[in-house]
Amino acid sequence: MTESPYWNPRHETMSRAEIEALQVRKLRKLLDWTEAQVPYHSKRLQDAGVTADSINSLDDLRRIPFMTREEWMDGQLEQPPYGPILAAPEESAIRYHLTSGTTGKTPIRVLDSMKDWEWIAEMWCYGFWGFGIRPGDTVFFAFSYGTFVGFWGAHYACEKMGCLVLPGGNMTTEGRVKQILDMNATVVCSTPTYALRMAQEARNLGIDLVNGPVKRLILSGEPAGSIPATKKLIEDQWGAKAGDTAGMTELGTIMMFECEQQPGGTHIIEDHYIEEVIDPQTGDPVAYGEPGERVVTSFGRGFIPVIRYRTRDLVLKIPAANCSCGRTFDIYEGGIRGRVDDMKLVRGTNVYPRAVEAIVREYDSIDEFQIHLYTAEGIRDEIEVLVEIPDPASDSDRIAAELQTSLSEAHEGLRFAVRQVDNESLPRFELKAKRVLDEREIAGGAGERKQA
Ligand SMILES: [Zn+2]
Repeated sequence: MTESPYWNPRHETMSRAEIEALQVRKLRKLLDWTEAQVPYHSKRLQDAGVTADSINSLDDLRRIPFMTREEWMDGQLEQPPYGPILAAPEESAIRYHLTSGTTGKTPIRVLDSMKDWEWIAEMWCYGFWGFGIRPGDTVFFAFSYGTFVGFWGAHYACEKMGCLVLPGGNMTTEGRVKQILDMNATVVCSTPTYALRMAQEARNLGIDLVNGPVKRLILSGEPAGSIPATKKLIEDQWGAKAGDTAGMTELGTIMMFECEQQPGGTHIIEDHYIEEVIDPQTGDPVAYGEPGERVVTSFGRGFIPVIRYRTRDLVLKIPAANCSCGRTFDIYEGGIRGRVDDMKLVRGTNVYPRAVEAIVREYDSIDEFQIHLYTAEGIRDEIEVLVEIPDPASDSDRIAAELQTSLSEAHEGLRFAVRQVDNESLPRFELKAKRVLDEREIAGGAGERKQA
């Protein structure tokens, strides 16, 4: 098995027709089970006139109603603590997890069975194996082992593959960097932001990561793992290859991973999921190459059926043939490109934080940044980018001016301010970075009002 570049050689190289036939078979099974176990879903399916038997092709999938996060949250509030969505008695669960939580939103609570966890690890195995990690590797997890699901499944995947696991929870950044070196870790798992944070700490400590033992980084938790400039920065600072993955608490694991060929995107694990891309406004499917919202159907969940779940993740799907690895799993070019809701409207121009990050990361001398939106003079939306430029030898005025021009040019001439702030004054994140501070009196409102 060590010879194959694929974790599941048969499934990862199936023809499109075979993949779709497999998905239809699994979908019927999923609906059968859901109808029998979850009255809440059974009623939703019945209302839509869908039965397992009536699914004959993937087109029939579109007759199934979407499930939104709001519906999931409402269900939890009405029927605490889990809502009406469990397919098995609470007592048979072995693990509890919680979404990392966005301000003002009720976190989603998730229960799992032992079978879920076998599947969760299996999904990560596709990703780790596909990125070239093998039983001889020593894998360090820069991850706080808590109720946020994060890299939990990846930890078990590494054990399953036979790697040596170094669980780096509850440690300082300095402690983590030193242990990575002391234990000759060949693989490091973290968020993209924290990979940069560790590299910065290594520089402060006078540690040379580039000539160190780490050969691969597995990134997750933020879109930046597929932003070319950020990825390059991480790879240069670590002297290692960085592979992107993406998952979600509602699934407990990843649904896509970057292969060793690094095609500039992530392969979708299509034998275990159906991933649709829709227009977030109309709900209609969009074609290959067009941006839209991810909708996921999972075949692996054993405790909570996930069927046509609207993720609000912004993606762009391209055919598998765009990668040379031989996998037949389609690709999300650029991984997860942010959230459908991330877009900010500033004086009539759309600003995606990811696009801003891609430009800021072109500047090696900028260590950390933040996008700040505010209302000037009570009426006008303003956008500024705060930057830290730690090296006193760099010409920070010139860098700020150049960055200002590039940002403006990429946004239809929208005026950006770029302001240098004190070193290490901006927040650092171990989990999901929040680099947008929107302090406008009416967020996005001033621009919308003017347009109306
Ligand atoms: Zn590939």
